[in-house]
Amino acid sequence: MTRPDPTAPPSGQRLTLFDLPLDVVTLEQTLDRLSAWMFQPPRSPHTVVTLNPEFIVQSRTQPEFLRAMQQADLVTADGVGIVWAARQLHGREVPRAPGYDIVRGLMERHRSELRVFFLGARPGVAEQAAQNAVRDFGIQVAGVHHGYFDPAEDQRVAELVGASGAHLVLTGMGAGRQEIFNQYWRQVLNAPVLIGCGGVIDVLAGTADLAPAWTRRLGVEFIWRVGLDRKRWNRAPRLAQFMRMVRAEKRRQ
Ligand code: UDP
Repeated sequence: MTRPDPTAPPSGQRLTLFDLPLDVVTLEQTLDRLSAWMFQPPRSPHTVVTLNPEFIVQSRTQPEFLRAMQQADLVTADGVGIVWAARQLHGREVPRAPGYDIVRGLMERHRSELRVFFLGARPGVAEQAAQNAVRDFGIQVAGVHHGYFDPAEDQRVAELVGASGAHLVLTGMGAGRQEIFNQYWRQVLNAPVLIGCGGVIDVLAGTADLAPAWTRRLGVEFIWRVGLDRKRWNRAPRLAQFMRMVRAEKRRQ
């Protein structure tokens, strides 16, 4: 782990957090960069990871997940846990650019010029998300596919996406699976922006609630996710493990 560098530029820099890259970018800078990738040549495929503490813990025992994130073109801080870790280990304030805000921001910015492929969630949910996004933002739907297919089907699904002409692929198939899929199949997927977006398709479909506004305003959605949303109580141990990892690393510095 590198020590804080007081002469480092305030943004546009890439930090390292437990062997993973973390880009120091605001939401606006993220939207600018993704927009350029989507609408300016050469429109080659780029992968985007929205990093959260659970990804870091999970990737310790899943080398393929670790590699997929190391190879990503952009890694943003999804939430306050990563911001806290960067402060502890680098003495830096890293802005947050959460997956939901990125997806919504791109749809609001580009509306009918944006072609989106919705890949993930249970059958029927991606269709609902796409319908809602058309209603709310007027985007074009490049295609939809649920996220519960067998890995033997990966190539078929990747080719389907590749033939769709999407600018933006929302891959919401769970932590690890979505990042590995995007990275491994990036050339076949052949869309300029491939983003692993967890439960964002569910939120767009209205089948999962976004954390309440007050927790998002304060940057403490994890209180909702871990404490108040009973479905997510199983996540608390991984968050506790992450905090222990950060403290141990800080002692080592
Ligand atoms: N999901 C999926 N395929 C899978 C596992 C999950 O499409 O094999 C979807 C799930 O329906 C949800 C999203 O991935 O829409 C995120 O799931 P979850 O919150 O369980 O995963 P996490 O991101 O916490 O790993």
